[in-house]
Amino acid sequence: MKPNILAYKALPDDVLAYLREHADVVTLDDAALSPGTLAAALKDADGAIGASVKVTPAMLEGATRLKALSTISVGVDQFDVDDLTRRGILLAHTPDVLTESTADTVFALILASARRVVELADWVRAGQWQKSVGEAQFGVEVQGKTLGIVGLGRIGGALARRAALGFDMRVLYTNRHPNEAAERAYGAKRVELAELLGAADFVCLQVPLTAETRHLIGAAELKAMKPGAILINTSRGAIVDEAALIEALRHGTILGAGLDVFEREPLAADSPLLTMKNVVALPHIGSATRETRHAMARCAAENLVAALAGTLTRNIVNREVLKRP
Ligand code: NAP
Repeated sequence: MKPNILAYKALPDDVLAYLREHADVVTLDDAALSPGTLAAALKDADGAIGASVKVTPAMLEGATRLKALSTISVGVDQFDVDDLTRRGILLAHTPDVLTESTADTVFALILASARRVVELADWVRAGQWQKSVGEAQFGVEVQGKTLGIVGLGRIGGALARRAALGFDMRVLYTNRHPNEAAERAYGAKRVELAELLGAADFVCLQVPLTAETRHLIGAAELKAMKPGAILINTSRGAIVDEAALIEALRHGTILGAGLDVFEREPLAADSPLLTMKNVVALPHIGSATRETRHAMARCAAENLVAALAGTLTRNIVNREVLKRP
């Protein structure tokens, strides 16, 4: 008998067709999704695929058939992984396929913030370009500066490559373990967070959101940055204490910020961040190219089909589940 799969995010037609070859598929409209409807639909599912929705332990209470969850993301902060493991539910994610497009977004934010691309494009649109530009419109250089990567893993590595080989930047990073490949290939130097904050012209956050990394960057860390430095966050909003960031930007503690992620998403239209010229705010588009989003959906669908067949060997978040009798 085919397993039951619940898709709680819209999928490309060919990916849905692939799932239907292997399973009976129920789709939920993600625009109208509430925790209650998702919990009710999970009761009949052997597996589920989706993204961008918090899946809490309470929502899984009735999901007695559920064997696998497949998230269309690399980040797994929408799940209580320990709880899934206790329940014997395997969690799969989509690393690697989104690494390059996300590193591009980081670099787009570095360049946009340093060269004031969004602010000055708005200035031209508003008809303010009436003579050749002067100091008031100058940005800061990127080439040859120091980049600090907080969390040099897959995306951090792709960022280090762009910075070291493309922009002749010095790369500093923090990690719990050394990333020897990045040290060899890009001259990346592992330092303590305090040293990175004090030396970097651009501080890029690329750690996963966990209990340990929540509010990793608060008032004290922002104060430890150079006054001319720019903070880039394309990881998860809650890694930064957003209220402290707003204060730091208001008082000129740092030069600017390029943000793809926020503590609350979508970002409220009345957020003080949107009134600041030295902030570039994006709507969580780290991996959002047509090609990458398609590859992520396909990868997550293949992960789920293989997980339900008992043949998945990669992209597994809680491998401990496989060791259970
Ligand atoms: P990854 O390969 O696992 O890299 C994460 C790095 O963070 C690792 O090198 C890890 O090294 C380091 N790290 C430092 N402190 C850590 C801690 N306390 N806990 C865990 N790791 C710590 O992940 P990735 O594929 O580069 O993705 C990183 C994150 O980017 C994702 O989790 C996601 O939140 C975010 N992301 C955002 C978007 C977007 O649309 N904006 C898109 C893709 C990904 P050690 O283990 O040695 O510490």
